[in-house]
Amino acid sequence: MENLRIGQGYDVHPMAPNRPCILGGVTIPTEDGRGPDGHSDADVLIHAVIDAMLGSCAVGDIGTLFPDTDPSLENADSTEMLREVIDALNAEVGWKVVNLDCTIFAARPKIGPHVNAIRLSLSKLLNTSIDRISVQSKSGNRCLGMIGQGDAIGASATILATINERTY
Ligand code: MG
Repeated sequence: MENLRIGQGYDVHPMAPNRPCILGGVTIPTEDGRGPDGHSDADVLIHAVIDAMLGSCAVGDIGTLFPDTDPSLENADSTEMLREVIDALNAEVGWKVVNLDCTIFAARPKIGPHVNAIRLSLSKLLNTSIDRISVQSKSGNRCLGMIGQGDAIGASATILATINERTY
């Protein structure tokens, strides 16, 4: 019997002018030049996935691991953080993804046309096949506060993983 672990993560960032809109490691074209604002590249989806991974092993959260007070993380590539976390968890407990299901909450830009590119990107980052990666998108139907108005983007992620039986 495999040693299964589940984890969930959530993140939200406000939109700001003159920022790239990077989701799941994919740069999404925007009409107004606005993208998620933050200390790093503000990839809310990758941040949610990292928290889900850390949660699956009960080893804290992204804010503790990569504090936004760390000057070396300014405009940091979030996919590099994800790679670091995978390597660390893999070395520690033999962590391997079973499947990942995420939701992006964004009124603007429209995410639907980019879902498969994001799935492909996440499957490469997690070293797994694309059929194990689900990405859904929700507009917020104009009623999710800043997200519904297009002034913020949120993401949630649920991940199932296996870890070494001998470790835990
Ligand atoms: Mg974040």
